[in-house]
Amino acid sequence: MEVMEKKEQLYEGKAKKVFATEDETLCIVSYKDDATAFNGLKKGTIAGKGVVNNRMSNMLMQLLEKKGVPTHFVKELSERDTLVRKVKIVPLEVIIRNVSAGSFAKRYGVPEGIVFEKPTIEFSYKCDALDDPLLNSYHALALKLATEEEIETIKQYAFKVNEVLKEYFLHLGVRLIDFKLEFGRLPDGTIVLADEISPDTCRFWDAQTGEKLDKDRFRRDMGGVEAAYQEIFKRVTGE
Ligand code: ADP
Ligand code: UDP
Repeated sequence: MEVMEKKEQLYEGKAKKVFATEDETLCIVSYKDDATAFNGLKKGTIAGKGVVNNRMSNMLMQLLEKKGVPTHFVKELSERDTLVRKVKIVPLEVIIRNVSAGSFAKRYGVPEGIVFEKPTIEFSYKCDALDDPLLNSYHALALKLATEEEIETIKQYAFKVNEVLKEYFLHLGVRLIDFKLEFGRLPDGTIVLADEISPDTCRFWDAQTGEKLDKDRFRRDMGGVEAAYQEIFKRVTGE
C-alpha cells in the first residue's frame, strides 16, 4: 500500500477527527486529547489521551480480528492517526455490561459493583440532539436504524467482543465492567466493528485494588486522570 495522506476533513467529533484519503473506501481517524462527558456538557483535556486511545484501540481491534470479529482497522499511521475502512455507522450505541455501574446503577437504583450472572446488552439511539435515548431492538427496527439480521449480527459480535476482552483484561489484572461499541456497514453491507475501544468507552477496574482506570475519573472529578490512562496503556502494551 502506498503512503496514505489526509485529504479533506469529513467530520470533527468530540474525541476524533475523520479525514478522507485518496482511496474513497478508506479514511483516517485522528485521535484528540479533548474529553467530554454528559453529552458535551462537561469539557476538558486529558494530556496524552489521543495516543493512548489510538494505540490501545488498534491493539484490541487486531486481537478481535484474530478471534473472528471483523473490524474497520487497516493500519496504524502514527501515534494519533489510523487508517480505517470507511463505513456507514449504524446509529446505535451498543452497551455490554458485566457489572453494575454508571447509568445502569442510577436508572435501576442499585449500587455499583453487582456482578451479573450473564452480561447484559442495551442499545441507545446515537443522536446527540436527543441525548442518545435508550431503545430496544423493536424500536431500532421501527425507526429503520438497522435490519433484523443486522441487529442479530451486532448482538453476536458484541457478546463475542465481551468474551475476548473480559479474558484478555483479566490476565492484565483488570476487570472489564462495561463498554460501548459502534458498528458500521461496508459498501457491500457487511457489518464490521468501528469507532474505538478505549478508556473513553470502557470501564476498567483494577482487579486487586478496585481503582478506576478509565474516563470515570474525568466524569467524576476524581483526579489522577492522565495517570489512569497511562496505567491501562502500560498494562496493554507493556510500555
Ligand atoms: P462523536 O461523533 O460521538 O463526537 P468522535 O469524536 O469519536 O465521536 O468522532 C468520530 C466519528 O467517526 C464518530 O461519529 C464515529 O461514529 C465515526 N466513525 C468511527 N469509525 C468510523 C469509520 N470506520 N468510518 C466512518 N466513520 C467512523
Ligand atoms: N459509553 C460511551 N459513550 C457514551 C455512553 C456510554 O462510551 O455515549 C460507555 C461508558 O464509557 C461505559 C459504558 O458505555 O463504559 C456504559 O455507560 P453508561 O450507560 O453507564 O453511561 P454513563 O455512566 O457514561 O453516562
